[in-house]
Amino acid sequence: MAYGNMGKVLEIDLATGEAVEFEPPQETYRDFIGGAGLAAKLLFERGDLAAEPLDPGNLLIFAAGPLTGIGFSGSSRLSVGARSPLTGIWGQASCGGNFGPEMKRCGYDAVVFRGRAEKPVYVLLTEGKAEVLQAEDLWGRDAYETTDLLKEKHGKQCKVLAVGPASENGVLYGSILNDKAHIFGRAGMGTVMASKNLKAFAAQGEMKMELADPDKVKEMGEWFREEVKGNVFCGALSAFGTGANLEAKMYEGDVPTRNWGQGLWEEGAEKLSGIALADNFVIDHGSCRGCAVRCKPVVEVKEGPYAMPPGAGPEYETQASFGTMLLNPELAAVCKANDICNRLGMDTITCGATIAWAMDCFEQGVLKPEECEGVELKWGDIDTVLELLPRIARREGKLGELLALGSRRASGEVGGGSEAFLTDSKGLEAPMHDPRCNWGDGAAYAISVRGACHVSNTTFLLEWGAVEYPEIGLDKNYQPQSAQWKGEAAALTADIGCIFNSACWCEFPGTIFTLTRLAELFDAVAGYGWDVQKMMEAGARVWYLQRCLSHIWGATAEDDSIGRKIMTPVEDGGIAGSVPDMRTMLNEIYELRGLSEDGRPRREVLERYGLTDVADRLYG
Ligand code: SF4
Repeated sequence: MAYGNMGKVLEIDLATGEAVEFEPPQETYRDFIGGAGLAAKLLFERGDLAAEPLDPGNLLIFAAGPLTGIGFSGSSRLSVGARSPLTGIWGQASCGGNFGPEMKRCGYDAVVFRGRAEKPVYVLLTEGKAEVLQAEDLWGRDAYETTDLLKEKHGKQCKVLAVGPASENGVLYGSILNDKAHIFGRAGMGTVMASKNLKAFAAQGEMKMELADPDKVKEMGEWFREEVKGNVFCGALSAFGTGANLEAKMYEGDVPTRNWGQGLWEEGAEKLSGIALADNFVIDHGSCRGCAVRCKPVVEVKEGPYAMPPGAGPEYETQASFGTMLLNPELAAVCKANDICNRLGMDTITCGATIAWAMDCFEQGVLKPEECEGVELKWGDIDTVLELLPRIARREGKLGELLALGSRRASGEVGGGSEAFLTDSKGLEAPMHDPRCNWGDGAAYAISVRGACHVSNTTFLLEWGAVEYPEIGLDKNYQPQSAQWKGEAAALTADIGCIFNSACWCEFPGTIFTLTRLAELFDAVAGYGWDVQKMMEAGARVWYLQRCLSHIWGATAEDDSIGRKIMTPVEDGGIAGSVPDMRTMLNEIYELRGLSEDGRPRREVLERYGLTDVADRLYG
């Protein structure tokens, strides 16, 4: 009996339309948890590891976790994994919304797409059945229109994942939208989906998942509901969205400004804050299925040059990437940029960060006006940015083509010292928390399995004092601008990130759970008999597997670093003069994780985690 899982995976070959289901061994679920861990395991075992990211041989794997669909706040997430076209290494993204629970209600923990359809298609998943249907009339439409048309055809209850024109056109950071409000943003997973001629994936089902101890899950659910109600952090997210802290964090120096070149921007702190968003544009509070936190603002800009109809509002990351990063104080324009990116299907972090990089290059004379087809890329000129977005999505002209590559690859094209303005790790642009403010973030970005990422670990929450993990020794007196104990913190919170992304658990309400309580929940849901140590081992196993995939695809120790612009000190604000001591933190991590000088995990470490097959592939 599979508890916490449906016990089945569906694999669809888009080249032939053939779908086969199989039952992974119970150890696969237990050892790799589900979600991003299960996706990596399936890709390692069933994929063609020699395939380039946009080759038909690359697998695209949607995988739910054991906590997906248990009805708790934060338990509706879904992960997707594939080799990333943006970074060339392991790529994954995670999304809330409603598709994860629905996929399980169709009877599957994961759906694997291989091959490429001859013409555009979408897949309709129902209970135990997948139909590959033609989508020629949907190709070229934006993600919102596509979703509306599929719901018209299959009913409102049907849940939809859709890509936009940016992915169809090969922009390397294409996203996947779930019901126009929830997004798999990072690492170009939408681009992989479109490369398979797969425009959309729809699902509707009613099947139920068995739990190991339903009474215990119910009891924990009641406890959790009360905890969420009284939690200050969740309360702030409910009222002001994920940008609730933007203003305070700006004064600490955590909010990247002017492509990470400025430590403080008071005008931006006030005008781009979560409070400003709530006061001026929020008309409702959206939510992932069953989540009482409701951290997703629904906004409307009623009039003016940035008018937009009611729809998904920007999250903190976008308030920064299209606000502070570009020195744009117009919050209405951030809402508009967010809306355009969502419809076209582009990751707002990479898109905003790539434009910020280009503005820096332009200011420094590295990117010449003639290379920009007469477009002046100036700080704060958001009107030019809004005009540019559809050109990027179409890869139109020299500039559109360049910016569609993401910053690292664009820098490779431009040369001329443009790498000095990069803010990525492993080719993935850093999210909007500054490692010069909390040094552990630098280490966490550097060793994150998919490149710079704040949801692959919980280091920043630990440094903020929002969480602590005494069960694994992470309860020390962490000072923000210090390397002391930060290597250990980054290494172990990376395992926690792997647990969250594999269990498919949202880190916001998830902060309420201690690790002991989380292990209890796993036990009640899946019956693994885990304690904290066993749970952490599973997280570490996922981290090693995903890291090894990236080494197989060419990653080296040099990639455990962060962009040069982030390593350049600024003169103002709470981070004046601060540069994280990466060497000390990375030495600690390499020691703790058993990594060789070239960055690869040592064979004996992989064997200890039962990854002998991975070691054989890595070392021959
Ligand atoms: S806290 Fe926000 S992102 Fe997390 S599950 Fe709830 S609504 Fe979704």
